[in-house]
Amino acid sequence: MLEPEVEARPSADQFALDDARYRAQLAYLYDHSAFYREKLLPAGFATADAAGVLADIAQLPLTDKREVRATCTPDNPIGAHLCAKRSEIVRIYSTSGTSGSPSYVPLTAGDLDNWVTASARTYAASGIAAGQRIVSTYNAGPFVAGAALAAFDRIGLSHIPVGTGNTERLMRAVEQLTPEAAVLTPSYAAYLVEWAADHNFDLRGSSVKRVLVAGEPGGGEPAFRANLEAAWGAKVTEAMGIGDIGVSLWGECEEQDGMHLGARGFVHAELIEPETGVALEMGDGATGELVLTHLQHRAAPLLRFRTRDHVQVRTSPCSCGRTSLRLRCIGRTDDMLIVRGVNVFPSAVREVVTAFAPAVSGHVLVKPRAPGIRQEPPLPVCVELARGREADAALADAIRERLRSVLVIQSRVDLVPWGSLPRSEYKSKLVERQAEPR
Ligand SMILES: [Zn+2]
Repeated sequence: MLEPEVEARPSADQFALDDARYRAQLAYLYDHSAFYREKLLPAGFATADAAGVLADIAQLPLTDKREVRATCTPDNPIGAHLCAKRSEIVRIYSTSGTSGSPSYVPLTAGDLDNWVTASARTYAASGIAAGQRIVSTYNAGPFVAGAALAAFDRIGLSHIPVGTGNTERLMRAVEQLTPEAAVLTPSYAAYLVEWAADHNFDLRGSSVKRVLVAGEPGGGEPAFRANLEAAWGAKVTEAMGIGDIGVSLWGECEEQDGMHLGARGFVHAELIEPETGVALEMGDGATGELVLTHLQHRAAPLLRFRTRDHVQVRTSPCSCGRTSLRLRCIGRTDDMLIVRGVNVFPSAVREVVTAFAPAVSGHVLVKPRAPGIRQEPPLPVCVELARGREADAALADAIRERLRSVLVIQSRVDLVPWGSLPRSEYKSKLVERQAEPR
């Protein structure tokens, strides 16, 4: 553990510390945040004291990204949640704009340092240690993922930045510089398995013994992970951040049983029912949308921020000794479909299909027929065959039956030839919506 006194701290002690930080953060919001004053006062919380303690947080309103964006003006393009002076801001990231045009994420020097601290705990949980080499495939670019790169220095790793989109360079670095670890998106890790097969590259025999995946859900799905681990000859652990809140907030330890909160003490986590916004009990196995609150942020702190990530919580003790909450991301709430009342995430469809390897390649594309979230069965699913496999009706039937028994949905499985679904060196697209009728 990088910081055992934090990572193995008893949960009750952590909660007491978080409670004190939360009350100080609320006082700071009332003093500095026009956005939260305008949100909390009309909701009946006239002062920080009225807003209560951490145990009462569910009484406060949720924050939606769209509300924050709506406060951006030409004079303040960051938004009314900006609390710090221009001279205090040391960095401004952009989010990737999956839900529209980019928005800005400012940080003070202290905020940035806390991000790196959390990210270092998160990545170190995977088992990588000082003195080892790690090759990274994130671009320093405009996005928050760039901040994670500083975590590798903090851990004491020898960091080999390769950036996105240059597979030849990456594989040459692996061959020549023999790093013990690689950090990439799960889609790229899967793409490299195919690339290695095409180029006669011995990925399994390479020096890489730890593959750290982040940036999209999937790395923790058992069948998907097992395929990656077999092909890489390496242990695969996943990490997750949320652009507006922090980079690599969560990361798996070597037990691979959900991601620990590496941002312990910086962020408070809650679970809500996505359709009603009602707070849910964080019991072992509970699922819902993840809601996060900054506990000691300065530049643009967020309170009860809806992440749109649908997660499952693990509270059982972890044998690594870390006492923080663990979770697994099931998918983006925005990607969720409801097929006759049943919630379906495209990454869950991929997980079921991947278990049919080596008959299938592991690439899937869900093609909802109706716009919006609610779909009538059967749900069309394109499943790509493995290299050299012919389509056969029995395989399609078996996949359809497994989707029915595991996910409780009726589907239509279309087997498509190897190489016909798109590959990604960054993030995979698992859903293809038909063009909206004009
Ligand atoms: Zn653990």
